[in-house]
Amino acid sequence: MVRAMDRSARPETVSSVYPTPHTPHPTPPLLPIVETFHSVQGEGLWTGVSAYFIRLAGCDVGCPWCDTKISWSTKPHGKVAVADLVQQAQAANPFMVVVTGGEPLMHDLTPLTQALKQAGLRIHLETSGAHPFSGQFDWISLSPKRFKPPQPEIYALAHELKVVIATADDLAWAEAQAARVPATTVKLLQPEWTSDDSQQLVFDYVKQHPDWRISLQTHKFLGVK
Ligand code: SF4
Repeated sequence: MVRAMDRSARPETVSSVYPTPHTPHPTPPLLPIVETFHSVQGEGLWTGVSAYFIRLAGCDVGCPWCDTKISWSTKPHGKVAVADLVQQAQAANPFMVVVTGGEPLMHDLTPLTQALKQAGLRIHLETSGAHPFSGQFDWISLSPKRFKPPQPEIYALAHELKVVIATADDLAWAEAQAARVPATTVKLLQPEWTSDDSQQLVFDYVKQHPDWRISLQTHKFLGVK
């Protein structure tokens, strides 16, 4: 029996699978974005440097002291085309673009970083390392979290290791993480902003352990993003 053709159905044809000169380009990559803004890098080795931030939505690490909980869910945040993100970053004319989150590695960062690189921009990544690595970067800041530890492959890629210290127990965690990164990786301890004791803990520890440096969230002292 021959069945009537459903005109609303879209049968898969060769041209629907393989783009031809007559078919439009595939939909450009979209990423869920919490915010983009031009500021200076507030923490880590590149503190004080002009930076354009691209904050991606989505994080499942669950740090209790997280200061960007708004980024945990992707749902409230709109999706932005990679081409638009690159155009905005170029227009800001920063020294570098910082891809941050949330946890940016929850997304495939290859299209975004390829496009930023093609535009001649320097690209930094801020990540907990809790998801598989993707993309190409000039600088990788690994900030591992006890609540969801990094994927093993990220340690060898880290240019800086930045560990947030809230309690004395975190110092032992920091040393365990430092044992997994290359000898050339810059090691930073960052006091947890809301912990009264953390600044003194970090200050005392760095004095006694000169292979570590202090990272301060200078943007919070300045009252800027
Ligand atoms: S990894 Fe970062 S964004 Fe995710 S919960 Fe921890 S501090 Fe917040």
